[in-house]
Amino acid sequence: MNMNGDELREVFSKTDIEERIDGLSQEINRDYMGRELVVIGILKGAFIFLADIVRRLSMDVAVDFVRLSSYGSNMESSGKITFSKDIEIDIASKDVLLIEDIIDTGYTIKYLMDVLRLKSPASIKVCCLIDKVERRKVEVQAHYVGFKVDRGFLVGYGLDYNERYRHLPAIYHLNPPYSPSAYSPSDR
Ligand code: 5GP
Ligand code: MG
Repeated sequence: MNMNGDELREVFSKTDIEERIDGLSQEINRDYMGRELVVIGILKGAFIFLADIVRRLSMDVAVDFVRLSSYGSNMESSGKITFSKDIEIDIASKDVLLIEDIIDTGYTIKYLMDVLRLKSPASIKVCCLIDKVERRKVEVQAHYVGFKVDRGFLVGYGLDYNERYRHLPAIYHLNPPYSPSAYSPSDR
């Protein structure tokens, strides 16, 4: 499909996503059964994913958000990350589950885990919608992974390009290389 001069090729359909979210939330329900969980979403990209996950959880859940800024281009984060919104819930001695849209280089989630660990949670795990394992620059692993993807810039289902396309219910590859309007940085 074509929008605003961009070519969007569907990678994961609404149904693919729903099925994966069912699977992920079952795993989370099993692992945290009978416990309390603080779910922390990373704004803005994870907002839809988080909403879909938490509605399938059966333990007691508290929800909070962080927003991080990373200096760098729109398409790739750099190693320099700062908080523009911190958590507001006390996570000391709590089980924490971070909900992230995409782990790419790993800088963002690594930074967040390092900072949150200073607040002494009982445990901290990561659930990400998309893991770009092959692009990792720092060692960090997600415990719950929706989909593994090796290349391409993705939009839809919360993921944006310059704030566009978050509202789309499926996940798309933005300007795949064969397209005439292809966005093609050297390594994607
Ligand atoms: P990292 O610090 O792991 O390199 O960057 C992760 C962040 O980069 C994600 O939270 C996301 O905001 C952004 N990102 C990485 N790959 C993509 C992508 O394919 N599409 C979109 N929309 N954002 C991405
Ligand atoms: Mg993000």
